[in-house]
Amino acid sequence: MSSWQVQLKNSYRSIAQVITDYPHLSERLNTLLDVEKKYPIFIPKRIMDKISEDIDGNISNQFLPQLGELSPDGLYDPIGDIKNSPVNRLVHRYENRVLFFPTSKCPINCRYCFRKNEISSIDQIFSKDDEAIEYLKTHPLINEIIFSGGDPLILTDDQLDKHLESFSGIDHIKQIRFHTRFPTIIPDRIDTDFLSILSKYKGRFEFIFVIHTNCVQELDEEVKLSLTKLSCDYTTLSQSVILKDINDSSESFYQLSQALLDLNIRPYYAHFPDDVLGAQHFKITKDKAHQVHSELRQRISGHSLPVFIFENSSNTSKEYV
Ligand code: SF4
Repeated sequence: MSSWQVQLKNSYRSIAQVITDYPHLSERLNTLLDVEKKYPIFIPKRIMDKISEDIDGNISNQFLPQLGELSPDGLYDPIGDIKNSPVNRLVHRYENRVLFFPTSKCPINCRYCFRKNEISSIDQIFSKDDEAIEYLKTHPLINEIIFSGGDPLILTDDQLDKHLESFSGIDHIKQIRFHTRFPTIIPDRIDTDFLSILSKYKGRFEFIFVIHTNCVQELDEEVKLSLTKLSCDYTTLSQSVILKDINDSSESFYQLSQALLDLNIRPYYAHFPDDVLGAQHFKITKDKAHQVHSELRQRISGHSLPVFIFENSSNTSKEYV
């Protein structure tokens, strides 16, 4: 078993487990047991160590349960994935690209996740692509497949290889994009075996990585090393969610953007939080997002400024700042 798989296997799956190893957090964690019943925790040890060092910090606030999750407000499927899904595990919203969901599993449960209601109700890795392949074959304008999830890098290298092999038989598919949070959560996932799979398909596909990261505190030395392994050979971009009291300031985005640019990663998207059931406490106002964006553009050149996006379930086009 690879190091990253061991770390996944040893991740914390309950508050009781966390309290056993971090008894000094018990008073705080015992208040969150009702939240855990609705939205389970899943936290790798290296992240739990960071949480333990700063229980009110930006890492903790993204991954530890919060009482705000029990609010009845918000939508189950806030961006309309379900109604834009022509066949199982594909979302086709735009002409040239599809989202492909090979798994519903993630290396961590982000408390703000816009798919938190779907993800908490299923726990699967899928292996057969038959339906998706048939759909893709009959839609020649699709040239890009976006591997999403869950997190696609939770698949084993063999499973990823099989998906890539299947898609390589469709001539009009030119680009494969991976949306992933792995490098900032379990950076060991970017190992030589994984890089070998990418190399195998390098002449066939253009690979693009979109790294999910929300604040500079996530970018420790291990994470930076793992990101550099990707960005030295592949187009690597970032996406973030603007979260209340975590990164909702131009200073926070400025620091993150500078650190990413140093790693040859271009800031790409900053998502306004969706109207998610169980994540309303992360929401900021549109005015606040506009303010952060306009302050940021004073400090960062346009080519490195993330695009601020609003999305909702009732439209198929995004609203850009
Ligand atoms: S890694 Fe992405 S899909 Fe998974 S819980 Fe976090 S935000 Fe959601």
